[in-house]
Amino acid sequence: MAVYEDLSPYEYLPVDHQGAIVNVGWLGKGTPYPSGPVPPGFRDALVRTASGYQTHATRGFHKCPFCGIRRATTAEPVPLLLGHAEFHIPGDQVTYAAPTLVIHYIDEHDYQPPQEFIDAVLALDRPT
Ligand SMILES: [Zn+2]
Repeated sequence: MAVYEDLSPYEYLPVDHQGAIVNVGWLGKGTPYPSGPVPPGFRDALVRTASGYQTHATRGFHKCPFCGIRRATTAEPVPLLLGHAEFHIPGDQVTYAAPTLVIHYIDEHDYQPPQEFIDAVLALDRPT
């Protein structure tokens, strides 16, 4: 899978979308990435919210570049299958494009997404 720096312009697949799209969580082995804790509730908010913003499904599954797992899933009672699509999460100014494996990176590899992505997910998950 391609590796992109967080918040760099998205270019992995063509998009039918107006406005800026930036990358989040396109990690690769040997490329340093931000690590650390995420705010309480963020990870679950991402799982709850993200499936509604899933797009660009592919026929195959990307392996995790760190542990090699293929068809990674979340630990939820009804697990979310990861590694075969992207989440496009709308933010205030931009849309954030993340591989679905971003949840696995947070769960298993200590990835810490940019704060503005965290804010966008939490804002979407807020009850209306
Ligand atoms: Zn992994």
